[in-house]
Amino acid sequence: MQNLINHVYIDGEFVTPHGTELFDLFNPTTGKVIGQVQLADEVDANAAVAAAKRALPAWSATSKEERIDALRRLQIAVAARSEDILEAILTEYGAPRRNTYMVDSTVTAFADMIETLESFDFTRQIGRATVELAPVGVAGLITPWNSDAFFICDKLATALAAGCTVVIKPSEMSATQTHAIAQALHEAGLPKGVLNIVTGRGDTVGSAISRHPEVAKISFTGSTATGKIILSQAVDTLKRVTLELGGKSPSVILDDADLQQAVTGALMAGFANSGQACVAGTRILVPESRLEEFLAVATEKMGDFPAGDPRDPGTAIGPMVSEQQWNRVQDYIRRGVDDGARIVVGGPGRPDGLPEGYFVRPTLFADVTNDMAIAREEIFGPVLSVITYRDEDHAVEIANDSAYGLHAYVFSSDPERAHRIASRLEAGRVSINGGYEPLSPFGGFKQSGIGREYGTFGLEGFLEPRSVMV
Ligand code: NAD
Repeated sequence: MQNLINHVYIDGEFVTPHGTELFDLFNPTTGKVIGQVQLADEVDANAAVAAAKRALPAWSATSKEERIDALRRLQIAVAARSEDILEAILTEYGAPRRNTYMVDSTVTAFADMIETLESFDFTRQIGRATVELAPVGVAGLITPWNSDAFFICDKLATALAAGCTVVIKPSEMSATQTHAIAQALHEAGLPKGVLNIVTGRGDTVGSAISRHPEVAKISFTGSTATGKIILSQAVDTLKRVTLELGGKSPSVILDDADLQQAVTGALMAGFANSGQACVAGTRILVPESRLEEFLAVATEKMGDFPAGDPRDPGTAIGPMVSEQQWNRVQDYIRRGVDDGARIVVGGPGRPDGLPEGYFVRPTLFADVTNDMAIAREEIFGPVLSVITYRDEDHAVEIANDSAYGLHAYVFSSDPERAHRIASRLEAGRVSINGGYEPLSPFGGFKQSGIGREYGTFGLEGFLEPRSVMV
């Protein structure tokens, strides 16, 4: 029997939405419908904002300890539902089971914010002024389909830590995952109205939230095109806006890199989340002098990233989320060929043995120039472009020649040299040889976004400084 998800979460309760539209939910591994969600509408969005507004005075007055206690309860509740969340992700999104971070990150989002909050000071002294960091107000949190549970938990943890109450508008395509996560969040027993979840379409519910006069802040993760619409919708009320948008991130392999390690690192960066990751390193910059060697190693290592059933522990790359996304990736592969790029591994069509579902062949292109569409536009699938460079300056020039600036990766056997290159890259995060720090700020230069998330930078995005001078 197919599932019908017919509730939204408003004012501490699961209620039937006022909206009546039924929207099909798919299993991308089979391409079959697995259920439907009854979508919220503007009336539901307004009810959710009203509930959040009522809850704001009490929640914004809570102490740091009370907020830490609430975040702990949320962390425990989400951890207890890990199996349900994993099952929903496998069924509805098709993320490979071996990517345990899809679930782990939902739990650590709360732990990371607890750690941030513990050492965070909400007042600072500047000369004669006491600067108080006050919660900005009701926050609208709008999330994409490509890591639904994590984005909900991360944005929620940060907003609550700041003393904001929230209205979450998850992607309509992720209703099964949202359902699993909402059950967990409800069990944490937050005060009524502090947390509200309305799954609906972007151009109705998302738009209503981003225009609403009682919403003070929008934290959005999604495409650059939608980010621009949200920014324009938010302008009349001068909302505070954090936008986490798309990317076309470079992986710069320096000529002194250990190619075995660098190729593995670059392929992992490129194929993260089946290629459906904003941070995917989809442009691999290789020194001209080592191209043939690189391609030989990469061709062999592509075998370590098989597409397949996400429930199979050997699978590295699951299906694309939807038929539309499958078609989009196919279009880009064709366009790469038409523009003169050379397919080294993969290509158009479906992988062998996977006749159903939205699977694509993990594809590596060589002979790519940085002006081709496959090098400039976000494909959001497992399609990587190898671009050669002459010297360090040329590598930096190509890396920065992009409308985006979300992430970059540098591979080198000389960390100091890699750091010098990293400091010249227009990217919100640069990872050297796989380096990672979850509490460091995350966000984009240029059209990859506005503002930062995670850690203290993320928390400050939900706070408004008030200078009190005696
Ligand atoms: P999308 O922009 O289509 O949708 C994101 C969310 O915005 C959805 O909930 C959608 O319903 C909503 N929305 C759509 N129109 C709206 C409107 N007019 N007003 C308000 N809300 C609206 O993105 P997607 O396809 O769901 O996700 C993939 C995109 O997200 C990619 O471009 C990817 O790079 C980006 N992304 C960025 C990050 C980051 O942190 N920078 C992380 C993950 C994904």
